[in-house]
Amino acid sequence: MKTYNFSAGPAILPQEVLKQAQAEFLDWNNTGASVMELSHRGKDFDECAIEATQDLRDILQIPHNYKVLFLQGGARAQFAAVPLNILGNKTSADYIDSGYWSKCAADEAEKYCKANRIDIKTVHESKIALQTMANWNVNSDAGYIHYCPNETIDGLAIFEEPNYNDKIVVADYSSCILSKPIDVSRYGIIYAGAQKNIGPSGITIVIVRDDLLGKANKMLPSVLDYTVETKHDSMFNTPPTFAWYMSGLVFKWIKRLGGLAEMEKRNQHKASMLYQYIDSSDFYHNNIATANRSIMNVPFVAPTEELNKLFVSEATKAGIIGIKGHRIVGGMRASLYNAMDIKGVSYLVDFMKQFEKTHG
Ligand code: PMP
Repeated sequence: MKTYNFSAGPAILPQEVLKQAQAEFLDWNNTGASVMELSHRGKDFDECAIEATQDLRDILQIPHNYKVLFLQGGARAQFAAVPLNILGNKTSADYIDSGYWSKCAADEAEKYCKANRIDIKTVHESKIALQTMANWNVNSDAGYIHYCPNETIDGLAIFEEPNYNDKIVVADYSSCILSKPIDVSRYGIIYAGAQKNIGPSGITIVIVRDDLLGKANKMLPSVLDYTVETKHDSMFNTPPTFAWYMSGLVFKWIKRLGGLAEMEKRNQHKASMLYQYIDSSDFYHNNIATANRSIMNVPFVAPTEELNKLFVSEATKAGIIGIKGHRIVGGMRASLYNAMDIKGVSYLVDFMKQFEKTHG
């Protein structure tokens, strides 16, 4: 049976990419071996890593004064790596609280500095909203500002891009990187776990501005030290070669499709199909204000807990997988990453209509 995967991560990958990986699984690049059997120090893998890095630079138009690292430990490792790499002699940092993951980042940073928690959640027409950047109450002596543009669990997004000039902005782009073009030059650091829009889990992208290197706390483990990793081309320890290779295939796929402008067009179209239907229905509900609705993760509920459970089990039978909401918020969540096509969203909406007709 054909399935439609709405998982929040690890998540759907482009079929084309999976098929290519399958076709060259046993003999990659005429080496007579699988890519995952080859040394990361060998010429073949080295070329693959360099090409993937360049493709990511092209797609995101990363300026020359930024390093691109492929690390391990997920975004959570970066929650610790960021303060330990860039605080220098500062003792505090601003942590914008917009939901679950930005709060986790502050909790981890709290071990290494004073995390000034700035709660930007508010209410707009009885729905959850976020204050715009102009209203963020940032502190002049903070080492940097950390925020999360897409809260994967809450379904809350910040579409504005920072414009702080001399302040260092750090953004956790885990669940929205490559979903639309962004202006990298506005950030000090961008980091993202791969397992949503990039590739399989096990690899984490860090994009860091040159002037932030060389300030690491001496307690920082070398594998998380951006300066050490830069010197070693992200190979200070053995990198997750297979995940890096797969990420490279995804970057090529994005390029073939027309880059991030095309991704954004598709993503907006998919999200609006789903939100429009939810808003037109008296059965389903999404409690996020329009301006902050994520185009990647769409949480919604049916009228009762019982119906939520039934929805998930009936959806699974119909080939819709990964739709159960995160245990913290319950209900359902449809993640609409780049690899989810319009057909998949249309299939989900048809299923939702049918379920509403039967149980509404
Ligand atoms: N930040 C965000 C926005 C996330 O969505 C996630 C994972 N869902 C994390 C951080 C944590 O990522 P990891 O499990 O790769 O450490």
